[in-house]
Order: sequence, then structure tokens, then C-alpha cells
Amino acid sequence: MLFINGETVVCGLFGYPVAHSFSPEMHNRAFDELGLNWAYLPFEVKPEHLSQAVEAVRALNLVGVNVTVPHKERVIEFLDEITQAAKTIGAVNVIVNDGGKLIGHNTDGIGFIKSLEEAKFNVSGKKAVVLGAGGAAKAVCVQLAYEGIAELTIVNRNIEKANKLASLISNLKVDVITLRWEQKKHIRDEMHNADLVVQATSIGMHPDNAFPPIPDDCFREGQIVCDLVYNPVNTKFLQAAKNAKATVVNGLGMLLYQGAAAFEMWTNKRAPVDVMRKVLVEKFK
Ligand code: NDP
Repeated sequence: MLFINGETVVCGLFGYPVAHSFSPEMHNRAFDELGLNWAYLPFEVKPEHLSQAVEAVRALNLVGVNVTVPHKERVIEFLDEITQAAKTIGAVNVIVNDGGKLIGHNTDGIGFIKSLEEAKFNVSGKKAVVLGAGGAAKAVCVQLAYEGIAELTIVNRNIEKANKLASLISNLKVDVITLRWEQKKHIRDEMHNADLVVQATSIGMHPDNAFPPIPDDCFREGQIVCDLVYNPVNTKFLQAAKNAKATVVNGLGMLLYQGAAAFEMWTNKRAPVDVMRKVLVEKFK
């Protein structure tokens, strides 16, 4: 049970809005599990107050914060340092206060790879298709490149965005192509031949519950199919993959492990992932 006193170590979340976030519950339950006198608080930070809020991390001696929409990109200009991954992705979701020096990290990609490891999938040398080219797709594609993916196909409605992401990834020595949703036959072939397919658009998110415009017969047995959408946990996309006997990975793993990575950076302790997972499963069942 959280009990705040003069020694409580404080961290939190900067976003706008933040009321819907599951992170305070996930982190506070984890602190409680390890008997840490720590507290994780939601801070609703308006865009015009972002620089002051970041300065407050130093002034109030917070151990660090998570950063979410709409601040993930713009926060970079207020930090002292950012990691190479965060720089390549162009977004920060974790700040660590290292004795007054504010360091920005991006743990979304790390979280994604960890969720694949749970399914016993190793990315190195494999072929992947990523549907989408927004923020989540960018974090995933960059991390796939860092982990040694050999071939990548990016499908997006806005092809300029896909091409921009592809040029970033090809600089990381990956063989990349981009496709529009209208290129149905090509998409089908690429998906069918892929070891890994990642649905990284917001299609299928509650309350829409829609299905991405992919052709029939895209999935096959033996491949891993992941949907980053976690609300609902079991999307129509994952159901179709399951029907084709593919191995499916839902978006909760990425969500869990990006948080666990932040927890470990701040506390230097192993995150109690089972407890954290339970919070998410209860929230999104
Ligand atoms: P962005 O807004 O940055 O990107 C949205 C993406 O979805 C773009 O590629 C966009 O295409 C595409 N898209 C949206 N609507 C349509 C449509 N009707 N038809 C075709 N394409 C469409 O969002 P994020 O990248 O931040 O998030 C994407 C999803 O990933 C969300 O559902 C989010 O909840 C989830 N997510 C999950 C995480 C996890 O930990 N599991 C972490 C982060 C995000 P275009 O560029 O053409 O507009």
C-alpha cells in the first residue's frame, strides 16, 4: 500500500491528456511489490508548459518521468542528452534524471523486441512486413534494424511517410521496400513470405474494431503476427492470423516491456513483470 512520507522518491508521466493512462497503476503496483518507497504520479502538461515541466524534473529532483502524446518528439530539445535509438526514432518516452543531467531514452522498440522474445522469436536475418509508418511503426522498424532484420517491407497510406522511414532504415543496412495499400498482390506476397508481420497502424483500435485493408490469404503457419493495438487485446487482425495457424503476439507485451525498461532504468532493480502484466491484463481484458 502506497504511503507517502518525507523520503518518498517521485517519478511520473508527462502527457496531455493523462487521465486515461494505465502507467501510474502499473508502476505503483510494481513499487509496492518490491517494497520501494516510491510514487509514480500523472502530470497533465499542456504543450506551452513543456519546457517548464522538464525543468521541474531537475528542480523537484524527480528520479525521472515517462513522456507520452503529444510531447514525445518536442521534449528532445529540452534534454541534456538522448540515446542513439531515441535520436534515430526522433522521440523520447523516458527521461532519466542522472544527478541533474536529463537523459532521454526510447524504450518502445526495446519493449517490442522483448515481446517477440516471449514468443521465442529472434529477429536476426529475418524478413518482416510492417503495416503503418507512424510513431509506433518507426520505433519498431528502427529497433528491428538494430536487431539485425535482413529485409523489411513498409506498407502505408501516406507513401511519402513510408519512404522517409525506409530511407532511415536503409541507412541502417536493411534491404527495404515500401508499398501502398492499393498494391494488393504485392502485399499478399510480401506478407506470405515474411517471418514476421507487424500491424502498426491505429486501425482496429476501440471503438472502431476495424480490419486493415489487406487481401485474403496473407497469413501462414510458422510466421509470427503481431498487432500493436492493445485495446482490444484480441483484434480482428490477430483472429485472422490465428485462423491461418500463425503464432500471434498482442500489443500488451510491448506496452508491458517498455514500462519495465523504464522501471529498471530508474530503480536499478529488476521489474516485477508478472505484477505489471496483471495490471494491464485486468485493464484491457
Ligand atoms: P500514429 O498516429 O503516429 O500513426 C498512425 C498510423 O496508422 C499511420 O501509419 C497511419 O497512416 C495509419 N492509419 C491510421 N488510420 C488509417 C486508415 N484508416 N487507413 C490506413 N492507415 C491508417 O500512431 P502511432 O504510431 O503512435 O500508433 C499506432 C497504433 O499503435 C495505435 O493503435 C497505438 O495504440 C498502438 N501503439 C501500441 C503500443 C504498444 O506498446 N503496444 C505503443 C505505441 C502505439 P498514414 O501515415 O497514412 O496516416
